[in-house]
Amino acid sequence: MQRLCILGATGSIGQSTLDVVARHPERFDVVALTGHRNLTLLVEQAKLHTPRFLVAADKQDYPVLAQLVADAGVSCEVLAGEEALEYVSAHAEIDVVMAAIVGAAGLLPTLAAVKAGKRVLLANKEALVMSGRLFMQAVREHQATLLPIDSEHNAIFQCLPHDYSYGAPATSGISKILLTGSGGPFLHKAMHELDGVTPQQACKHPNWSMGRKISVDSATMMNKGLEFIEACWLFGLTTEQIQVVIHPQSVIHSMVQYQDGSVLAQMGNPDMRTPIAHALAYPKRIEAGVAPLDFAALADFSFQYPDYTRYPNLKLAIDACQAGQYATTSLNAANEIAVEAFLLGKIRFTQIAGVNEHVLQSIDALELNNIDTVLNVDRRARELATSLVARWQG
Ligand code: NAD
Ligand code: MG
Repeated sequence: MQRLCILGATGSIGQSTLDVVARHPERFDVVALTGHRNLTLLVEQAKLHTPRFLVAADKQDYPVLAQLVADAGVSCEVLAGEEALEYVSAHAEIDVVMAAIVGAAGLLPTLAAVKAGKRVLLANKEALVMSGRLFMQAVREHQATLLPIDSEHNAIFQCLPHDYSYGAPATSGISKILLTGSGGPFLHKAMHELDGVTPQQACKHPNWSMGRKISVDSATMMNKGLEFIEACWLFGLTTEQIQVVIHPQSVIHSMVQYQDGSVLAQMGNPDMRTPIAHALAYPKRIEAGVAPLDFAALADFSFQYPDYTRYPNLKLAIDACQAGQYATTSLNAANEIAVEAFLLGKIRFTQIAGVNEHVLQSIDALELNNIDTVLNVDRRARELATSLVARWQG
């Protein structure tokens, strides 16, 4: 029996995780669930999965959640606030933590799980983008087990040799990691029309159903940029060892190219329950509820390299990855503010990259040697981005 904490249970990844878990009641015991805004759903989930802890991310929501729990007749301990998130993710009764909070808000609770030596299933890519070196150091120091949930990284993980030596792909005979992405909903849109796209259009991904922030990131390909940075940290790669490839069908989830000319790909229908089930059961395999691939019914596979004039955010992310951690942290923070502003109709789609670029140019280079410095840079970048949005708004 694995005892499970799901950070961000009410989100897209959180719900898919509970779907997989519900198929295997003999394997998983849900001990803690956390949510932010949708507390009614959180209580519905508690009715079904009977966790010991139910946590609202916002401290002020304690009375609301406690009342909802009492009304529903659910018996569990209600907690609230950022410290409560860290408390449950590091709790002695937890073996596995699914880190599925979106954005920088996920960093501290995910890190708390790492420092408690848990098995951490990482969906919250922003945590790694912000603090990669410190995060990976903590994984090693506290002997946590880190398993990637992002479909691309999960695919790469599956295609790497079992004895892959971290940070030395060439010694494992690897020549390149091919990071695939669909190109999002605007792959074929006329460039001059990008200025006028709406949040609704940007959130309508052709293949995946996801939260709103990552959906916009997919449309700008910032998501692939964040994943590029994530891959560098997860697998110990340099920027030259990763190549982004657009594959609009989203059936190949990423590939590893070896020196002998072999390319290993992981394939499957675009459904996050596959990487979630893989990481939950690793090294075993379990049923995930995902329809098998029907090869005869598949569209032709196509591939192309990304055009940075269409996807300036991807270029910014790759450059930031080369520049260092202060740059990736700043970019992530600026992007969260810019995406939120776009979703609220304050700035245009094409201005997201503008905000990001301005912030990157304004932040001074410095070493991020501890989490406080990371959080300071994050805060500073948010302030800069927020003031830019205010200036550009309307
Ligand atoms: P989502 O918006 O659907 O859900 C986010 C979850 O985080 C919700 O439970 C929400 O309540 C919680 N949350 C939001 N703000 C919070 C805060 N300030 N404090 C604490 N909790 C907060 O997002 P999602 O699509 O499930 O994505 C979650 C993470 O997984 C993201 O980092 C995303 O990049 C990554 N990811 C998602 C997918 C996908 O298919 N959805 C794929 C790969 C990676
Ligand atoms: Mg992904």
